[in-house]
Amino acid sequence: METYSMFISGHESTADGGEYFDVFNPGTEEVIAQVPLGNKEDAKRAVDAARDAFDSGIWSNKTPSERARILLKIADLLEADSDEFAVLESRNQGKAIKLARDSDLPFAIDNLRFFAGAIRTLECTSAGEYIDTGTSILRREPLGVVSCITPWNYPLMIGIWKLAPALAAGNTVVIKPASNTPLTTIKLVALMSKAGIPPGVVNLVTGPGNIVGEEMVENSKVDMVSLTGDTETGKRIASLASKTVKKIQLELGGKAPFIVLPDADIEAASEGAVVGGFVNAGQDCTAATRIYVHEKIHKAFTDKLVAKSKKVKIGNQLDPKTDMGPLVSKAQMERVETLVKTGVEEGAKKLLGGNRAFSKGYFFEPTIFDDVEQDMRICQEEIFGPVLSVLTFNNVDEVIDNANGVNYGLASSIWTKDLTKALNISKRLRFGEVWINDHLPLVSEMPHGGIKHSGFGSDLSTYSLEEFMHLKHVYIDTTGSVRKPSYYTVYGEK
Ligand code: NDP
Repeated sequence: METYSMFISGHESTADGGEYFDVFNPGTEEVIAQVPLGNKEDAKRAVDAARDAFDSGIWSNKTPSERARILLKIADLLEADSDEFAVLESRNQGKAIKLARDSDLPFAIDNLRFFAGAIRTLECTSAGEYIDTGTSILRREPLGVVSCITPWNYPLMIGIWKLAPALAAGNTVVIKPASNTPLTTIKLVALMSKAGIPPGVVNLVTGPGNIVGEEMVENSKVDMVSLTGDTETGKRIASLASKTVKKIQLELGGKAPFIVLPDADIEAASEGAVVGGFVNAGQDCTAATRIYVHEKIHKAFTDKLVAKSKKVKIGNQLDPKTDMGPLVSKAQMERVETLVKTGVEEGAKKLLGGNRAFSKGYFFEPTIFDDVEQDMRICQEEIFGPVLSVLTFNNVDEVIDNANGVNYGLASSIWTKDLTKALNISKRLRFGEVWINDHLPLVSEMPHGGIKHSGFGSDLSTYSLEEFMHLKHVYIDTTGSVRKPSYYTVYGEK
C-alpha cells in the first residue's frame, strides 16, 4: 500500500497534524493508499504558497508561449504514463478501465494541448479611440490565486479542466481532489512539477471538503473558486465566497432529459440511452437519466432498451471486458439504493435491476424504471448511479415542459430524423448542452456548463479561459493638455 503526500511550494508535504486517511478500491473494498488528512493550516500554507508565487510574477510574467510549452510538456509526460494513470484511476474510482484508458486520459491530454494553444490565440477587441481625447487598450489578465475543488466521478479529467485553463491564463492554483479519489491528481501534480511548473504555482492539499475546502474558499488571498460537485456544496461555497466577493465558477450536476420523438431511429436511440445512462456507472452529471419516449414507440423502445441493458457486463473494473465497474463508495451505493427503493414506493414499475450486483464491492445493477411520473423523486433528483427513468409523452409542448421541469439545466438530448424539429426544440430546452441523435460528446473546443441549479460558467473551450481571467481597460490621454475639454463639468467653466 502506497502512502501519498500533499504538494506545497514545490515540495511533498505531510499534513500539519501528521494524520492520514484511507483510500479504497471500491471494487474490492480494500484500502489501497493512505493520504494526508489536511486541515485549515495546510490549506492556509498552500494558499500562501500560491499567493507568493503569483505575486512574484514567476508564472504570470511568462509569455503565453512559455506557459504553453510547459503545458505541452505536461501533456507529453501524461501521455507517456497514460496506462499507469488509467489503471490508478480505475482502481481508485471504480470506472471501467476501457473508459479511463480510452476516454478520460486521451480527452484530458487533448484538453491540456488545447489550452496550451488557445492561450496563444486569445485576442481582445483592437485598441481604439472611443472618445476624441484618448485611446483605449483592453488587457486580459490572470485573476491571481485560484482554488480548484474537484469531484470523484472524473477526478483526473475534471482536475485538468480546471488546472489547464487556470495555468494557461497565468494564475497560480491550489487544488483539492475529492477525498474518495485523490490519487491520480496527486500523481498529476508531481508530474507537473517535473515538466517545469515553478514551485508554488500548483499546490495540492488533501482532506475534508468542509475543512480544507472551506478554507480554500474563505481565505482572503484567494481570488477565484472553481468547483465541480453537488448543488448543496455549490450553495455553501457561493455563500462563503460572498463574504470576500470572490469570483466563482460552479458545475453542479444535472438530470438530463433524453427525448425520443416518434420518428426516431429506435435502434440508435436505445443504444444511445444505454451508453448515456450507464456511462461511469451513471456517475456522470450529463448522464441520460430521464428518458421521455413518445407513446407510439414506447413498447418498441423499452423492449430494446431492456434487452441491450441486460448485456452490460458488470465486474472487476480493471478487466478490459468490463462495461461497468462499482460505484465510487459505500455511501454512494447506499444513496442509489435509497432512491431506487423510493422509486418502487412511489409506484414506478421496475423493468430491470434495482439491487447490488455482488455481496462484495459497491456494484449496482443497471436499473430501469418505467411508468415514471414527472413529480417522482427518481425523476427530479440526481441519483448518480445506473438508474434510468422512462416517461411517456404524446405531444412536443408537453415533453418540452417536462424536460425543463426540474431544477437542473446541464445537458439534454433529442432523438429524431427531423432536424428542423430538433433545432426548434433545442431552442426551447433550458440546458447548457443539447445533443441531437447522440448523448455525451464533449470536445475541447466547445463550452460545457449549465444553468439553473447546475451552476454557471464554462468548462472547456476559450470561454473557460475567460472564466480564469479578467478584463482591464487601460486608457491613455492623447491630447497632452493640462485642461481636457470635459474638465469644466467638475470644476471651472467651459
Ligand atoms: P461534493 O459536492 O460533496 O464533493 C465535491 C467536492 O467538493 C469534493 O472535493 C468535496 O470534498 C468538496 N466539498 C464538499 N463540501 C465542501 C465544502 N463545504 N466546501 C468546500 N468543498 C467541499 O459531492 P459528494 O461527494 O458528496 O457527492 C454527492 C452528490 O453530488 C452525488 O451523489 C452527485 O449527485 C453529486 N455530484 C455531482 C458531481 C458533478 O459532476 N456535478 C460530482 C460529484 C458529485 P470531499 O470529497 O473531501 O468531501
